Amino acid sequence: MKIGILGGTFNPVHFGHLRIAEEARTDFDLDKVLFIPCHIPPHKNHRQVLAPQPRVEMLKLAIKDNPFFEISDIELNRKGKSYLIETLHELIVLHGSSAELFFIMGSDSFIEIGAWREYQKLFYLTNFIVVTRPGFAEELSGHFALNSLPVDISDDFCYDSQPCSILHSSGFKTHLVKTTLLEISSTDLRQKVLKGKSIKYLIPCEVEKFIKETELYKTKI
Ligand code: ATP
Ligand code: MG
Repeated sequence: MKIGILGGTFNPVHFGHLRIAEEARTDFDLDKVLFIPCHIPPHKNHRQVLAPQPRVEMLKLAIKDNPFFEISDIELNRKGKSYLIETLHELIVLHGSSAELFFIMGSDSFIEIGAWREYQKLFYLTNFIVVTRPGFAEELSGHFALNSLPVDISDDFCYDSQPCSILHSSGFKTHLVKTTLLEISSTDLRQKVLKGKSIKYLIPCEVEKFIKETELYKTKI
């Protein structure tokens, strides 16, 4: 079983998230993609992050028509700050070692991987699918990946036979994938709502409706 994982704050979920999950799923023939909303993001000002429940409600509305997409509440149940290393250990226990994991992330997140807890160990537990994020590295290559990695682990990697992936000594790969560029971010969406601007066509219409009805993001949190 090949399982994609898309971790994020999803504050709110938008078409950028949904599209990278769908492109990763079809390109890598994934059996499903787990959307994992974090409890407290370690690298964001958590006071600005909405409570879990409305974030999950919006995710439910956003993925309900895609039978390959699921929500996992493991980070919410664990509480505290959400570290990928702990999430991967839990997923391996849950799905068994025969499950092959693919962690999907934008290039903006990948270039900061050196700040993640126990980043060295992550590459022994999962493959990575790094996708293009407008405004960040848009031309992805094995060379880009090797240069983005912290120097203390770059020797653990080598170029792979496929030009757009690098191979870790564990056997897991980091794939670089040029996905459709969608310049959408949750930060921009929250600011638009705060200023009374439209977010139509950037976000699934049911999520847009939910934000309107519950008056989310109308005041700064
Ligand atoms: P915020 O502005 O609050 O940080 P965001 O739009 O970046 O929100 P996150 O929940 O932080 O969304 O992102 C989760 C993951 O999805 C990250 O790996 C991020 O790189 C990726 N991602 C988010 N939006 C896009 C996009 N438009 N294109 C490609 N990747 C994206
Ligand atoms: Mg982000």
